[in-house]
Amino acid sequence: SLFFFYVRLIRRLAGKIAVITGGASGIGKATAAEFVRNGARVVIADIQDDLGRAVAAELGSDNACCYTRCDVTDEAQVADAVDLAVARHGKLDVMFNNAGITGSPGWPPLGAVDLADFDRVMAVNARGVLAGLKHAARVMVPRRRGSIICTASATGLCGGMGAIAYSASKATVIGLVRAVAAEMASSGVRVNAISPYAIPTPLALATVASWHPERGLSAEEIKRMVEIDLNVMYGTKLEEEDIARAALYLASDDAKYVNGHNLVVDGGTTVS
Ligand code: NAD
Repeated sequence: SLFFFYVRLIRRLAGKIAVITGGASGIGKATAAEFVRNGARVVIADIQDDLGRAVAAELGSDNACCYTRCDVTDEAQVADAVDLAVARHGKLDVMFNNAGITGSPGWPPLGAVDLADFDRVMAVNARGVLAGLKHAARVMVPRRRGSIICTASATGLCGGMGAIAYSASKATVIGLVRAVAAEMASSGVRVNAISPYAIPTPLALATVASWHPERGLSAEEIKRMVEIDLNVMYGTKLEEEDIARAALYLASDDAKYVNGHNLVVDGGTTVS
């Protein structure tokens, strides 16, 4: 009927199965909601069990969303999350490698940089993404289809004062995506990055708060710093949902020829 034709038109991921790392909060959570709204079934893979279960319960009517604990620094846990999606739903169409951390509070200058912090940031943001790429490709390549999306950052393009480990890790994500996309091109699997600018998620709020501990800024003031001082754009704020819609595009068949791309969602900040 016309009704179901219309429903099919607006559900751009009907029947697709997705894993979202870091899906318990922020960008990952907004993307889980957007994917479910568009007909996908989503496995949220995170280390925040209570939050992850709550998000899954909120989105999970009709088996649409579930939570699994997955620390992306442990390859076996990433493999398990992928295998869980396949066991539960029969396949994996979309892998969103989105879990990330910003590193030690305050983002100290080069002279005070902690090399162990560099290892921790790279373990989550870069090695975790590589594990996600490897294990998603393991189940996608035999089916000759799939879309892998990795969250990089505008910081991976333009650097930024103090963002030493974070910027390096996000530039690495862009490099990983390009290298793996070249290999995947002949196998029907697409690999792309998204580079968001600042959004007041728990990650960004905690990072900005740590820059000026002596100022004792209120939560509201910190939020305003992320939204206004960092988003130099046309009076509109960048939101998690803006990234979720970018992920929806890359996940969907609308992007069937888009491979190896870094979709920058920053209102032009990195080019101005
Ligand atoms: P967030 O803190 O709301 O969400 C990050 C999630 O990742 C959390 O739920 C956290 O538990 C999870 N996570 C952290 N370490 C993990 C691990 N080892 N294994 C599994 N999950 C883990 O923050 P967010 O802003 O939504 O961050 C999502 C991604 O977006 C990150 O990669 C971040 O670097 C990137 N990003 C954020 C911004 C921003 O301004 N918020 C800008 C550019 C890029």
